[in-house]
Amino acid sequence: MNFLPVLSWIPGNARPLVIAGPCSAETEAQVLQTAHALKLIPQVRVFRAGIWKPRTRPGSFEGVGSAGLLWMKKVKEETGLLTTVEVAKPHHVQEAIEHGIDILWIGARTVVNPFSMEELAESLSGIDVPVLVKNPVNPDLKLWIGAIERLHKNGIHRIAAVHRGFYQYENTRYRNAPHWEIPIELMRQMPGLPVLCDPSHIGGSRNLIQPIAQQAMDLEMDGLMIETHPDPDKAWTDASQQLTPGALSDILNGLVLREHKGSREFERNLEELRHEIDLIDYELIRLLAERMLKAEEMGRYKYAHNITILQLQRWKELFADRIKKGSKAGLDTRFLAALLQLVHEQSIEIQTNVMNKLE
Ligand code: PEP
Ligand code: MN
Repeated sequence: MNFLPVLSWIPGNARPLVIAGPCSAETEAQVLQTAHALKLIPQVRVFRAGIWKPRTRPGSFEGVGSAGLLWMKKVKEETGLLTTVEVAKPHHVQEAIEHGIDILWIGARTVVNPFSMEELAESLSGIDVPVLVKNPVNPDLKLWIGAIERLHKNGIHRIAAVHRGFYQYENTRYRNAPHWEIPIELMRQMPGLPVLCDPSHIGGSRNLIQPIAQQAMDLEMDGLMIETHPDPDKAWTDASQQLTPGALSDILNGLVLREHKGSREFERNLEELRHEIDLIDYELIRLLAERMLKAEEMGRYKYAHNITILQLQRWKELFADRIKKGSKAGLDTRFLAALLQLVHEQSIEIQTNVMNKLE
C-alpha cells in the first residue's frame, strides 16, 4: 500500500505538523477568536473543530452542526489556516466538501464500526481529500488497519493515522491508555503511513499534554492534534484537556525533536518491554489482592477456632522458606525481606479487622 507523506500535503511545513483548535465549535466568535490566536503560532498549520459531536448520551451538546461549516470557511478566508472537521456519516462528508473543508477526520467511535467505515469510505470514493483516521476506541490494531484499508481501497491516498489512546477498564492517570506499542506496530505494518498523536484525548487533562506530545516526537510521529480553546474551563466539551493558544505555543516551543537513525526501532523495543512490565505488575497486583482475600478467610477461621492471629512459629518458618526460595530465584535478600514484612503486616491488619468485626 502506498501513502503520501503527510508533509507533502502541506508544502513548506516542517515536522511536526500541528493541528489545533477547539474540541467543539461553540459560537462563531469562539471559533474565529481561537483561529486568529492560533494563526500567530507558526507551527500551527491546520485548524480543527468538532461540528458534529459523538456524545455518549443523548441530550448532551451534540455540536452546532452544519452552521459551523460557514464559520470554518471564514477561518480559512481570514487566517489562511487549513481546516478539518470530524465526519461520521456520508452527508457530513458531502457537506464538508461543499464548504471547502481541507482535511476530514474520522473519530474513534466511528472507526470501531466496519459498517460505518465502509459507508464513509464509499462516500469518499472519487473525492481527493486527505483523511485522518483516529484509532478505534478499543485497543484493536486490526480495526484501525481495516479502516485505513477501506479508505485506501476507495482511492484515498492521503491518509494519516491519529493515535488518541484506548479505552481502559482500570482508572489510570490517562483518560485513554496510550498503549504506545499499538501505533508502533501500525508503523511497522504500514511503512510510510503518516502517524500523528492526539495528546488531548490520551491525557484528558492539561498537565499531561506536554509529556505525551514529547513522547510522540521521540517515537518519530509526524504531527500533533491538540485541543485549544480561548477559555478552556468554560469549554462546552472536554474542558479539562483544552489548552489556551498561549499554553499550546509554550509546549510547541519546548518540544525537543531528536532525529537519530534507528530510534524508532529502539523505542519500539523499549515500549514492548514496558508493556510486558505493565502486564507483570497487573498480575502482581491481582495476586496480592488474592492473597489478602485469603488472609481475610484465615481471620474468620482463626476466630471461629479461637486462635490468636499471630502464630510466631509459622511466620518464622514462612519467612525463612520465602527467603530461601527468593534467593534461589536470584532476588536480593534485603529487598525480599522488606517486601515480606510489608505483606505480612497488611495480612495481620486484615485479620485483626475481620476479628474485630466479628467480635
Ligand atoms: C475529538 O477529537 O474531539 C474527538 C471526539 O475525538 P475522538 O474521536 O478521538 O474521541
Ligand atoms: Mn474532544
